[in-house]
Amino acid sequence: MAKNYRSELVGVFGCPVDENPTGVMEEAAFAKMGLDYRYLTIKVEKEDLGRAMNAVRAFGMKGVNLTIPHKVNVLAYLDELSEAAEIIGAVNTVVNRNGKLFGENTDGKGFLTALKKEGIEVRKKKIVILGAGGAARAIGVECALDGAFKITVVNRNEDRGMELAELIETRTNAAGRFEKWEGSYSIPEDTDILINATCVGLYPNISDKPNINYDTIRSGMAVSDVVFNDPNTRFLQEAGRRGAKTVNGLGMLAQQGALNFTLWTGVCAPVEVMEDTLKKEFGLC
Ligand code: NDP
Repeated sequence: MAKNYRSELVGVFGCPVDENPTGVMEEAAFAKMGLDYRYLTIKVEKEDLGRAMNAVRAFGMKGVNLTIPHKVNVLAYLDELSEAAEIIGAVNTVVNRNGKLFGENTDGKGFLTALKKEGIEVRKKKIVILGAGGAARAIGVECALDGAFKITVVNRNEDRGMELAELIETRTNAAGRFEKWEGSYSIPEDTDILINATCVGLYPNISDKPNINYDTIRSGMAVSDVVFNDPNTRFLQEAGRRGAKTVNGLGMLAQQGALNFTLWTGVCAPVEVMEDTLKKEFGLC
C-alpha cells in the first residue's frame, strides 16, 4: 500500500499572532487521537486576508481560525454562516466543506460549554456582561440564543455597548439592556451571572481588575472571566472571596478549541488533554 506523506492542514491567521497558544493545544489533541493534522500559526496582515483565504481553498486546508484583525473582514470571503456568527457579525472559525467555506463563531459556544461543565446554566438567568467588544458580543448572543432572560451590557463606550444591547433585544428572545460604565459599577442585586468580557487583568497587567463595587457581588452569583493569561485574575479572586462560584477563561479557551477540533476533523475532542496542555503552557502545572 502506498504511504501517505501529506498531512491535513488547519491553522490560524492573525496579526499579531506569534504569541497565540492555540496551535500547541490543537496539535496535542491531534496527537492524542492519532490524526495526521498540522496546525499552522500564520501571520497574515490585514490587507492580505483575501489572498490568505484563497490559499485555504488552493491548499485544500480543512479550515482556519481567525484572530485580530480578521474576525469581521473574513465574512466577505465565506460561502455560508452559522446563525450565531451571522448575528454576532464575526467569525473565529472557518470550515472548508469540499471547497465551500463555512463560518462559525465558537467563542461564545466555548464559554457556554465551560459554564455548563461547572453546572451553571444560562437559561432564564439575568446576566451582566462587562465590556462590549468581540468576546462580549459572542458571549452575549450565545447566552441569549441559549435562553437567558435578560442581558445587561455595561461598557464605557456608549455606541458599542448600545449596539450589543440592541442586537440582543432585536435578534433574540432575551431582553437586552445597556448601562454606561462610569466610575465604580454596582452589580444589580438580582444578577445571577456576572461576566468580565473586557481585557482588564490580561498579562502583563495582572494586578488590574474591572472597576466595580466588589461588595455588590453576592455569594449566590456565578462569576466568570474571559481573561485566561493569567487565569486566576484579581476579578475572580475578589468574587471568590465573597462566596461566588467562579469560572476562569482557560475553560472557554479549551472548549472553543475543542469545538473547532470537532468541526474540522469530525472526531470528538480530547478536552482534558487540551486543557492540560494549556495549563502547562501557562506554567500552571
Ligand atoms: P475588544 O478589544 O474587542 O474589546 C475590549 C472591551 O474591553 C471593550 O468593551 C472595552 O471597552 C473594554 N475595556 C478595555 N479596557 C477597559 C477598562 N480599563 N475598563 C473598562 N472596560 C475596558 O477585545 P476582545 O473582546 O476581543 O477581547 C477581550 C478579552 O477577551 C481579552 O482579554 C481576550 O484575551 C479575551 N478572550 C478570551 C477568550 C477565551 O477563550 N478565554 C476568547 C476571546 C477573547 P470600550 O468599548 O469602552 O473601549
